[in-house]
Amino acid sequence: MNQPVQPPVFEVGRIRADFPLLGTTVNGKPLVYLDNAATTQKPRAVIAALVRYYETINANVHRGVHTLSQRATDEFEDARETVRGFLNAASPREIVFTRGATEAINLVAQSYGRTFLRAGDEVLIGEAEHHANIVPWQQLRDSHGTVLQVAPINDAGELDLAAFTKLLSPRTKLVAIGQVSNALGTVNPVAEIIRMAHAQGARVLVDGAQSVGHGPVDVAALDCDFFVFSGHKVFAPTGIGVLYAKAELLEAMPPWQGGGDMIRTVTFEHTQWNDLPWKFEAGTPDIAGGIGLKAALDYLAGLDFTAAARHEHDLLHYATTRAAEIAGLRIIGTAKDKVAVLSFVVAGVNAQDLGVLLDSQGVAIRTGHHCAMPVMTHFGVAGTARASFAFYNTREDVDRFFAALAKALEILA
Ligand code: PMP
Repeated sequence: MNQPVQPPVFEVGRIRADFPLLGTTVNGKPLVYLDNAATTQKPRAVIAALVRYYETINANVHRGVHTLSQRATDEFEDARETVRGFLNAASPREIVFTRGATEAINLVAQSYGRTFLRAGDEVLIGEAEHHANIVPWQQLRDSHGTVLQVAPINDAGELDLAAFTKLLSPRTKLVAIGQVSNALGTVNPVAEIIRMAHAQGARVLVDGAQSVGHGPVDVAALDCDFFVFSGHKVFAPTGIGVLYAKAELLEAMPPWQGGGDMIRTVTFEHTQWNDLPWKFEAGTPDIAGGIGLKAALDYLAGLDFTAAARHEHDLLHYATTRAAEIAGLRIIGTAKDKVAVLSFVVAGVNAQDLGVLLDSQGVAIRTGHHCAMPVMTHFGVAGTARASFAFYNTREDVDRFFAALAKALEILA
């Protein structure tokens, strides 16, 4: 008789040992780190890559003929190739290093937006976007006369696709949408959104800041025009991020910052731009950050990402079930398709006070508006408390979180 196939066990204990900070104490209590949507902890492999770079390689890139400079250049460009593979982009020419998702979106707004969008052209975003995917489009509107359209969410925190479809028209030149909402955990159907937008002739930017840490991304299969993410949300250092864009777009776009590295020749009369992707990388980049990002993506490649995602879903399900036991607790964001974010308010309780009391018990969560103030307005709250999970969290973390929450609520009662 055939045995039922058991899914592989996700060995979270072994994985936790790779993240030194998870084994530390905060305020005298073992740390329970549930602020992964803000930033993730770093595995030892990433920390070691930074130390190795500074101890054995440190030199500027693309400039010197000396050995260290060539090694630094080779490793930085190798990191670009690793990012290409991670996103399944066609070429490393399509991978621009930035400071993070924010800078990447600003690059697109400033370079693509100012060059290819005309007054009256529409940029369509979602109501649940992070400020990083709102403000650059407002700035473009204010300086350039484009129109900013916003597709609403429903009360579960899901994008209202019918309303989105209505707003989409031949006037829409760019759709900018988060793959996952940081405030709510909602997963947007970006493949469908891209198909619909392309059918109207619009380009699509996908903000992948909150999706890259929770499952594989394939920009070729998605056929998105732009995809941005930050290294620090995917177990890599802060200060490094990525803009993916189709090569034909990057070719046509002007550089947005001038300086070293982005040029081929300079005279006082005329400057020739460098090739892709360096045309968009003025000045010394975050070399160590790039190398650290490669180490993080290599670490992820060694994990069973599907099993990791299943583990995270189990945590979310468990936390959601336990949340229902708490009197007065209201979950903000109840989309059918959600990643590991539990955003909530408790009647009569200030989220900030909760955050402080949880911190005193070693439990790190985020409180406030989560850089998504329009979401707070939609739900009529000033802010929420947010526990956000990564694959290294455990059911014990969830239990400790709820024990700390119960204690905090007792104190605040
Ligand atoms: N978009 C989303 C959905 C985010 O969650 C964040 C970070 N919270 C950003 C953009 C901006 O990322 P960064 O601050 O790393 O540039």
